[in-house]
Amino acid sequence: MRERLYRVEAIVLKRTDYGEADRLVTLLTPNLGKLREIAKGVRKPTSRKSGHLELFTHTHLLLAKGKQLDIITQADTLDAFLPLRNNLERIGYAYYLAELVDKFAEEGTENRALFDELLRALAWLGETTTDPDVLARFFELRVLQYAGYRPQLFNCVHCGKSIEPTENYFSVEAGGVLDPECVQTRRAQLEHAHDAQVIPLDVLKVLRYLQTREWATVRDLCVSGETMLQVETVMLRYITYHLERNLKSVEFLRELKARKYVANE
Ligand SMILES: [Zn+2]
Repeated sequence: MRERLYRVEAIVLKRTDYGEADRLVTLLTPNLGKLREIAKGVRKPTSRKSGHLELFTHTHLLLAKGKQLDIITQADTLDAFLPLRNNLERIGYAYYLAELVDKFAEEGTENRALFDELLRALAWLGETTTDPDVLARFFELRVLQYAGYRPQLFNCVHCGKSIEPTENYFSVEAGGVLDPECVQTRRAQLEHAHDAQVIPLDVLKVLRYLQTREWATVRDLCVSGETMLQVETVMLRYITYHLERNLKSVEFLRELKARKYVANE
């Protein structure tokens, strides 16, 4: 049983207006996983809590046990991640990271690794030297790992043989790579790999690199835009399949990129 009043450290993942002046707030905490709480009167101009409950804010909260939802009675910002807030593109990416975590995190289940990863990613996103696309792909693989959906990139998901540097296949249904032999000669036995598609070797190499290296190494990754786009496509297919839905922020990022592209013409 939780106490009637309790404190949590949290990152604000999502906010939804509720009633006249309230807001439902979805939070990620290190010890209690995802939580959904209510902040009363927070949309009134006089509210002292509202500034501490902005999206992506790392905050310290005092909560009171409610009948259904617990009530946020006090909020104090630990880090507002100001460097990323003056750039619409980076805000778009932060929104994507938060939505990804919101969809994959479980309510009430401790996941400190995921919490720490999001905290670090928001800080890195504010650094001007960070390529937000590289960070997004790196973060996707980390979230999948912490949520138990780590794609298999080193051994064939069907026969377990080590993947050779040749033209292999990737299946989101099967959860990773398949060697050409399994796909070409044993297709009938591959019940859960109907979606298997060729994965170019450089795309597979980038995915492996992102999955196994630390950010301090990954941040200097330099590959062609075309390869990164293919990596993004594979990841998006994988994530959409496992979530069984599309993410709203993906569309937003797409629009931002299209606008940027037009602006650079
Ligand atoms: Zn195989």
